[in-house]
Amino acid sequence: MPLWSDMVVHEKWNALVCDPVDSVLIDGLKNRGLTVEYEPSITPDDLAASIGKFHVVVVRSRTKLTSSILSSASNLKIIARAGIGTDNIDTEYASRHGIFIVTAAGSSTHSVAELNISLMIMLARNLNSLVEKTRNGIWEKSPGTELYGKTAGIIGMGRIGFATARILSSMGMQVAAYDPVVNMEFIEKMHGEYHDLDTILSVSDVIFVLANLTDSGNGMLNAAHISRMKQGILIVNTSRSEFIKGSDLFEAMKSGKIGGYAADVFWHEPPVEPWEKELISMSNVMVTPHIGAQTYEAQKKVAEYTLNNLFKKMEEI
Ligand code: NAD
Repeated sequence: MPLWSDMVVHEKWNALVCDPVDSVLIDGLKNRGLTVEYEPSITPDDLAASIGKFHVVVVRSRTKLTSSILSSASNLKIIARAGIGTDNIDTEYASRHGIFIVTAAGSSTHSVAELNISLMIMLARNLNSLVEKTRNGIWEKSPGTELYGKTAGIIGMGRIGFATARILSSMGMQVAAYDPVVNMEFIEKMHGEYHDLDTILSVSDVIFVLANLTDSGNGMLNAAHISRMKQGILIVNTSRSEFIKGSDLFEAMKSGKIGGYAADVFWHEPPVEPWEKELISMSNVMVTPHIGAQTYEAQKKVAEYTLNNLFKKMEEI
Protein backbone atom coordinates (compact mmCIF):
# COMPACT_ATOMS: atom_id res chain seq x y z
CA MET A 1 0.00 0.00 0.00
CA PRO A 2 1.42 3.45 -0.83
CA LEU A 3 1.89 5.88 2.04
CA TRP A 4 -0.52 8.82 2.14
CA SER A 5 2.43 11.15 1.54
CA ASP A 6 3.35 9.20 -1.62
CA MET A 7 -0.20 9.54 -2.90
CA VAL A 8 -0.03 13.30 -2.43
CA VAL A 9 3.17 13.40 -4.50
CA HIS A 10 1.55 11.33 -7.25
CA GLU A 11 -1.52 13.51 -7.26
CA LYS A 12 0.72 16.33 -8.41
CA TRP A 13 2.01 14.29 -11.30
CA ASN A 14 1.22 15.36 -14.84
CA ALA A 15 0.57 12.74 -17.47
CA LEU A 16 0.67 13.23 -21.23
CA VAL A 17 -1.13 10.71 -23.43
CA CYS A 18 0.39 10.97 -26.92
CA ASP A 19 -1.54 8.43 -29.00
CA PRO A 20 -5.22 7.42 -29.30
CA VAL A 21 -6.13 5.19 -26.33
CA ASP A 22 -9.26 3.66 -24.81
CA SER A 23 -11.14 6.07 -22.49
CA VAL A 24 -10.68 3.49 -19.68
CA LEU A 25 -7.00 4.49 -19.65
CA ILE A 26 -7.63 8.24 -19.46
CA ASP A 27 -10.29 7.79 -16.75
CA GLY A 28 -7.98 5.47 -14.78
CA LEU A 29 -5.19 8.07 -14.76
CA LYS A 30 -7.59 10.82 -13.67
CA ASN A 31 -9.15 8.64 -10.97
CA ARG A 32 -5.67 8.07 -9.58
CA GLY A 33 -5.36 11.85 -9.21
CA LEU A 34 -3.02 12.59 -12.11
CA THR A 35 -3.52 15.68 -14.22
CA VAL A 36 -3.97 14.36 -17.75
CA GLU A 37 -3.38 16.04 -21.08
CA TYR A 38 -4.67 14.01 -24.05
CA GLU A 39 -2.84 14.83 -27.31
CA PRO A 40 -3.47 11.82 -29.55
CA SER A 41 -1.93 13.41 -32.64
CA ILE A 42 0.88 15.46 -31.10
CA THR A 43 3.77 16.19 -33.49
CA PRO A 44 7.41 15.43 -32.61
CA ASP A 45 8.19 19.17 -32.40
CA ASP A 46 5.26 19.90 -30.06
CA LEU A 47 6.16 16.87 -27.98
CA ALA A 48 9.77 18.01 -27.61
CA ALA A 49 8.56 21.48 -26.60
CA SER A 50 6.08 20.28 -23.96
CA ILE A 51 7.44 16.98 -22.57
CA GLY A 52 9.48 18.76 -19.88
CA LYS A 53 6.52 19.29 -17.55
CA PHE A 54 5.30 15.68 -17.50
CA HIS A 55 6.08 12.91 -15.01
CA VAL A 56 4.32 10.20 -17.03
CA VAL A 57 4.09 9.85 -20.80
CA VAL A 58 1.75 7.28 -22.32
CA VAL A 59 2.46 6.15 -25.90
CA ARG A 60 1.30 3.52 -28.33
CA SER A 61 3.40 2.85 -31.46
CA ARG A 62 2.84 6.13 -33.36
CA THR A 63 4.90 8.35 -31.07
CA LYS A 64 8.65 7.87 -31.25
CA LEU A 65 10.40 8.64 -27.99
CA THR A 66 13.89 9.24 -29.39
CA SER A 67 16.90 10.32 -27.33
CA SER A 68 16.51 13.82 -28.73
CA ILE A 69 12.91 14.09 -27.48
CA LEU A 70 13.73 12.39 -24.17
CA SER A 71 16.61 14.83 -23.61
CA SER A 72 13.93 17.53 -23.01
CA ALA A 73 12.00 15.30 -20.56
CA SER A 74 13.54 16.70 -17.40
CA ASN A 75 10.73 15.55 -15.05
CA LEU A 76 9.88 12.26 -16.73
CA LYS A 77 9.75 9.29 -14.37
CA ILE A 78 7.74 6.65 -16.23
CA ILE A 79 6.99 5.91 -19.88
CA ALA A 80 3.86 3.76 -20.17
CA ARG A 81 3.70 1.89 -23.48
CA ALA A 82 0.04 0.99 -24.02
CA GLY A 83 1.02 -2.08 -26.03
CA ILE A 84 3.85 -4.59 -26.28
CA GLY A 85 6.87 -3.66 -28.43
CA THR A 86 9.17 -0.91 -27.11
CA ASP A 87 11.06 -0.38 -30.38
CA ASN A 88 9.56 3.14 -30.67
CA ILE A 89 11.33 4.11 -27.42
CA ASP A 90 15.05 4.70 -26.91
CA THR A 91 15.12 2.26 -24.02
CA GLU A 92 18.88 2.62 -23.49
CA TYR A 93 18.59 6.38 -23.10
CA ALA A 94 15.65 5.95 -20.73
CA SER A 95 17.46 3.44 -18.55
CA ARG A 96 20.63 5.58 -18.41
CA HIS A 97 18.53 8.52 -17.22
CA GLY A 98 16.50 6.63 -14.61
CA ILE A 99 13.26 6.70 -16.60
CA PHE A 100 11.22 3.51 -16.04
CA ILE A 101 9.25 1.84 -18.84
CA VAL A 102 6.09 -0.19 -18.25
CA THR A 103 4.12 -2.03 -20.94
CA ALA A 104 0.88 -3.95 -21.39
CA ALA A 105 2.70 -7.20 -22.16
CA GLY A 106 0.30 -10.10 -22.65
CA SER A 107 -2.79 -7.97 -23.25
CA SER A 108 -3.17 -8.79 -26.96
CA THR A 109 -1.63 -12.27 -27.07
CA HIS A 110 -4.80 -14.13 -28.08
CA SER A 111 -6.02 -11.48 -30.50
CA VAL A 112 -2.70 -11.52 -32.37
CA ALA A 113 -2.55 -15.34 -32.32
CA GLU A 114 -6.04 -15.50 -33.85
CA LEU A 115 -4.98 -13.01 -36.54
CA ASN A 116 -1.92 -15.18 -37.32
CA ILE A 117 -4.13 -18.20 -37.94
CA SER A 118 -6.59 -16.23 -40.11
CA LEU A 119 -3.78 -14.80 -42.23
CA MET A 120 -2.20 -18.24 -42.70
CA ILE A 121 -5.47 -19.85 -43.82
CA MET A 122 -6.28 -16.94 -46.12
CA LEU A 123 -2.86 -17.30 -47.78
CA ALA A 124 -3.07 -21.08 -48.06
CA ARG A 125 -6.51 -21.00 -49.74
CA ASN A 126 -6.04 -17.75 -51.75
CA LEU A 127 -9.13 -16.41 -49.98
CA ASN A 128 -8.12 -12.80 -50.44
CA SER A 129 -8.14 -13.04 -54.21
CA LEU A 130 -11.12 -15.44 -54.47
CA VAL A 131 -13.37 -13.21 -52.36
CA GLU A 132 -12.35 -10.22 -54.46
CA LYS A 133 -13.22 -12.16 -57.64
CA THR A 134 -16.66 -13.29 -56.44
CA ARG A 135 -17.32 -9.68 -55.38
CA ASN A 136 -16.62 -8.73 -59.00
CA GLY A 137 -18.91 -11.43 -60.41
CA ILE A 138 -16.15 -13.94 -61.25
CA TRP A 139 -17.03 -17.49 -60.08
CA GLU A 140 -13.64 -19.18 -60.46
CA LYS A 141 -12.54 -22.34 -58.62
CA SER A 142 -8.80 -22.59 -57.97
CA PRO A 143 -7.04 -25.03 -55.62
CA GLY A 144 -5.25 -24.02 -52.43
CA THR A 145 -3.13 -25.88 -49.88
CA GLU A 146 -4.36 -28.12 -47.03
CA LEU A 147 -2.44 -27.29 -43.87
CA TYR A 148 -3.02 -30.52 -41.93
CA GLY A 149 0.33 -32.32 -41.46
CA LYS A 150 2.36 -29.38 -42.76
CA THR A 151 5.19 -27.77 -40.77
CA ALA A 152 4.86 -24.33 -39.21
CA GLY A 153 8.14 -22.71 -38.21
CA ILE A 154 7.88 -20.02 -35.55
CA ILE A 155 10.62 -17.44 -35.15
CA GLY A 156 10.13 -16.03 -31.65
CA MET A 157 8.46 -18.42 -29.20
CA GLY A 158 7.23 -15.90 -26.63
CA ARG A 159 3.65 -15.27 -25.51
CA ILE A 160 2.21 -14.82 -29.03
CA GLY A 161 4.41 -17.58 -30.46
CA PHE A 162 3.17 -20.04 -27.86
CA ALA A 163 -0.52 -19.09 -28.23
CA THR A 164 -0.20 -19.44 -32.02
CA ALA A 165 1.65 -22.76 -31.72
CA ARG A 166 -1.15 -24.17 -29.54
CA ILE A 167 -3.76 -23.47 -32.24
CA LEU A 168 -1.49 -24.72 -35.06
CA SER A 169 -0.86 -27.92 -33.17
CA SER A 170 -4.59 -28.49 -32.60
CA MET A 171 -5.01 -28.17 -36.41
CA GLY A 172 -2.67 -31.13 -36.87
CA MET A 173 0.34 -29.09 -37.97
CA GLN A 174 3.91 -29.84 -36.87
CA VAL A 175 5.35 -26.89 -34.98
CA ALA A 176 9.07 -26.09 -34.89
CA ALA A 177 10.53 -23.05 -33.17
CA TYR A 178 13.62 -20.87 -33.23
CA ASP A 179 14.20 -18.60 -30.24
CA PRO A 180 17.36 -17.78 -28.28
CA VAL A 181 15.31 -18.30 -25.08
CA VAL A 182 13.64 -21.66 -24.60
CA ASN A 183 9.92 -21.58 -23.66
CA MET A 184 9.50 -24.59 -21.36
CA GLU A 185 5.70 -24.44 -21.63
CA PHE A 186 6.05 -25.07 -25.39
CA ILE A 187 8.17 -28.16 -24.78
CA GLU A 188 6.09 -29.52 -21.90
CA LYS A 189 2.60 -28.95 -23.30
CA MET A 190 3.19 -29.60 -27.00
CA HIS A 191 6.38 -31.66 -27.05
CA GLY A 192 7.58 -28.90 -29.37
CA GLU A 193 11.03 -28.88 -30.88
CA TYR A 194 13.61 -26.12 -31.05
CA HIS A 195 15.91 -25.82 -34.05
CA ASP A 196 18.50 -23.39 -35.32
CA LEU A 197 17.32 -20.74 -37.76
CA ASP A 198 18.66 -22.59 -40.82
CA THR A 199 16.65 -25.71 -40.01
CA ILE A 200 13.47 -23.69 -39.47
CA LEU A 201 13.98 -22.03 -42.86
CA SER A 202 14.44 -25.32 -44.70
CA VAL A 203 11.76 -27.52 -43.07
CA SER A 204 8.85 -25.08 -42.82
CA ASP A 205 5.86 -24.83 -45.14
CA VAL A 206 4.71 -21.70 -43.31
CA ILE A 207 6.97 -19.35 -41.36
CA PHE A 208 5.65 -17.05 -38.64
CA VAL A 209 7.76 -14.07 -37.56
CA LEU A 210 6.68 -13.44 -33.95
CA ALA A 211 9.77 -12.12 -32.18
CA ASN A 212 10.28 -8.84 -30.38
CA LEU A 213 12.56 -6.52 -32.32
CA THR A 214 16.05 -5.91 -31.01
CA ASP A 215 19.16 -4.84 -32.91
CA SER A 216 20.05 -8.48 -33.64
CA GLY A 217 16.67 -9.08 -35.31
CA ASN A 218 16.92 -6.12 -37.68
CA GLY A 219 17.21 -7.49 -41.25
CA MET A 220 17.78 -11.04 -39.95
CA LEU A 221 15.91 -12.55 -42.95
CA ASN A 222 17.49 -11.53 -46.25
CA ALA A 223 17.89 -12.98 -49.77
CA ALA A 224 20.35 -15.63 -48.56
CA HIS A 225 17.86 -16.86 -45.93
CA ILE A 226 14.95 -16.76 -48.37
CA SER A 227 16.96 -18.89 -50.84
CA ARG A 228 17.11 -21.65 -48.19
CA MET A 229 13.30 -21.72 -47.78
CA LYS A 230 11.02 -24.18 -49.61
CA GLN A 231 9.75 -23.07 -53.02
CA GLY A 232 6.33 -21.40 -52.52
CA ILE A 233 6.84 -20.83 -48.78
CA LEU A 234 4.11 -18.82 -46.99
CA ILE A 235 5.26 -16.15 -44.53
CA VAL A 236 3.13 -14.49 -41.84
CA ASN A 237 4.62 -11.52 -40.00
CA THR A 238 2.65 -9.80 -37.25
CA SER A 239 5.59 -8.66 -35.12
CA ARG A 240 7.76 -6.14 -36.99
CA SER A 241 8.57 -5.74 -40.70
CA GLU A 242 12.20 -4.87 -39.90
CA PHE A 243 13.01 -8.54 -39.34
CA ILE A 244 12.83 -8.99 -43.11
CA LYS A 245 14.85 -7.06 -45.68
CA GLY A 246 11.97 -5.56 -47.65
CA SER A 247 13.65 -5.31 -51.06
CA ASP A 248 14.75 -8.98 -50.86
CA LEU A 249 11.23 -10.09 -49.94
CA PHE A 250 9.82 -8.06 -52.85
CA GLU A 251 12.22 -9.77 -55.32
CA ALA A 252 11.34 -13.22 -53.91
CA MET A 253 7.62 -12.47 -54.30
CA LYS A 254 8.15 -11.40 -57.92
CA SER A 255 10.15 -14.55 -58.72
CA GLY A 256 7.55 -16.82 -57.08
CA LYS A 257 10.04 -18.19 -54.54
CA ILE A 258 7.69 -16.95 -51.80
CA GLY A 259 4.16 -18.19 -52.47
CA GLY A 260 2.38 -15.72 -50.20
CA TYR A 261 3.15 -13.00 -47.68
CA ALA A 262 0.74 -11.76 -45.03
CA ALA A 263 1.64 -9.06 -42.55
CA ASP A 264 0.06 -6.81 -39.97
CA VAL A 265 3.16 -4.61 -39.86
CA PHE A 266 4.96 -2.71 -42.60
CA TRP A 267 8.22 -0.91 -43.25
CA HIS A 268 6.37 2.39 -43.49
CA GLU A 269 2.90 2.43 -41.94
CA PRO A 270 1.15 3.41 -44.16
CA PRO A 271 3.40 2.45 -47.14
CA VAL A 272 5.41 5.21 -48.82
CA GLU A 273 8.01 3.69 -51.16
CA PRO A 274 6.91 2.64 -54.69
CA TRP A 275 8.12 -0.97 -54.04
CA GLU A 276 6.03 -1.10 -50.85
CA LYS A 277 2.92 -0.04 -52.76
CA GLU A 278 3.64 -2.53 -55.55
CA LEU A 279 4.17 -5.32 -53.01
CA ILE A 280 0.82 -4.59 -51.33
CA SER A 281 -0.98 -4.66 -54.68
CA MET A 282 0.10 -8.28 -55.41
CA SER A 283 -2.75 -10.79 -55.24
CA ASN A 284 -0.82 -13.16 -52.96
CA VAL A 285 0.16 -10.42 -50.49
CA MET A 286 -2.17 -9.43 -47.67
CA VAL A 287 -1.36 -6.52 -45.42
CA THR A 288 -3.58 -5.41 -42.56
CA PRO A 289 -3.10 -1.95 -41.01
CA HIS A 290 -1.45 -3.02 -37.70
CA ILE A 291 -4.69 -4.26 -36.15
CA GLY A 292 -3.34 -7.23 -34.19
CA ALA A 293 -4.47 -5.70 -30.90
CA GLN A 294 -7.58 -4.07 -32.36
CA THR A 295 -10.25 -6.19 -30.73
CA TYR A 296 -12.62 -4.87 -28.08
CA GLU A 297 -11.23 -7.42 -25.65
CA ALA A 298 -7.56 -6.64 -26.27
CA GLN A 299 -8.08 -2.85 -26.15
CA LYS A 300 -9.75 -3.14 -22.75
CA LYS A 301 -6.92 -5.35 -21.52
CA VAL A 302 -4.28 -2.95 -22.94
CA ALA A 303 -5.81 -0.14 -20.87
CA GLU A 304 -6.11 -2.28 -17.72
CA TYR A 305 -2.62 -3.83 -17.94
CA THR A 306 -1.02 -0.44 -18.68
CA LEU A 307 -2.74 1.17 -15.67
CA ASN A 308 -1.92 -1.75 -13.34
CA ASN A 309 1.75 -1.79 -14.32
CA LEU A 310 2.01 2.00 -14.18
CA PHE A 311 0.44 2.24 -10.71
CA LYS A 312 2.62 -0.62 -9.44
CA LYS A 313 5.71 1.25 -10.63
CA MET A 314 4.44 4.53 -9.12
CA GLU A 315 4.14 2.78 -5.75
CA GLU A 316 7.67 1.42 -6.02
CA ILE A 317 9.44 4.71 -6.78
P1 NAD B 1 7.46 -11.88 -26.00
O1 NAD B 1 8.47 -10.98 -25.39
O2 NAD B 1 6.60 -12.73 -25.09
O3 NAD B 1 8.16 -12.87 -27.05
C1 NAD B 1 9.11 -12.47 -27.97
C2 NAD B 1 10.06 -13.65 -28.18
O4 NAD B 1 10.92 -13.35 -29.28
C3 NAD B 1 10.98 -13.90 -26.97
O5 NAD B 1 10.84 -15.27 -26.55
C4 NAD B 1 12.38 -13.62 -27.50
O6 NAD B 1 13.38 -14.47 -26.93
C5 NAD B 1 12.20 -13.89 -28.98
N1 NAD B 1 13.20 -13.27 -29.85
C6 NAD B 1 13.75 -12.03 -29.75
N2 NAD B 1 14.62 -11.83 -30.75
C7 NAD B 1 14.60 -12.96 -31.51
C8 NAD B 1 15.30 -13.36 -32.68
N3 NAD B 1 16.18 -12.54 -33.29
N4 NAD B 1 15.03 -14.57 -33.20
C9 NAD B 1 14.14 -15.42 -32.61
N5 NAD B 1 13.45 -15.10 -31.48
C10 NAD B 1 13.70 -13.89 -30.94
O7 NAD B 1 6.55 -10.97 -26.90
P2 NAD B 1 5.06 -11.25 -27.44
O8 NAD B 1 4.07 -10.73 -26.46
O9 NAD B 1 4.98 -12.65 -27.89
O10 NAD B 1 5.05 -10.25 -28.69
C11 NAD B 1 5.98 -10.44 -29.77
C12 NAD B 1 6.01 -9.23 -30.64
O11 NAD B 1 4.78 -9.12 -31.36
C13 NAD B 1 6.10 -7.87 -29.90
O12 NAD B 1 7.40 -7.53 -29.53
C14 NAD B 1 5.53 -6.90 -30.91
O13 NAD B 1 6.58 -6.45 -31.74
C15 NAD B 1 4.58 -7.77 -31.73
N6 NAD B 1 3.18 -7.44 -31.47
C16 NAD B 1 2.44 -7.02 -32.54
C17 NAD B 1 1.11 -6.68 -32.36
C18 NAD B 1 0.28 -6.22 -33.53
O14 NAD B 1 -0.64 -5.43 -33.35
N7 NAD B 1 0.56 -6.71 -34.73
C19 NAD B 1 0.52 -6.74 -31.09
C20 NAD B 1 1.28 -7.22 -30.03
C21 NAD B 1 2.62 -7.55 -30.22
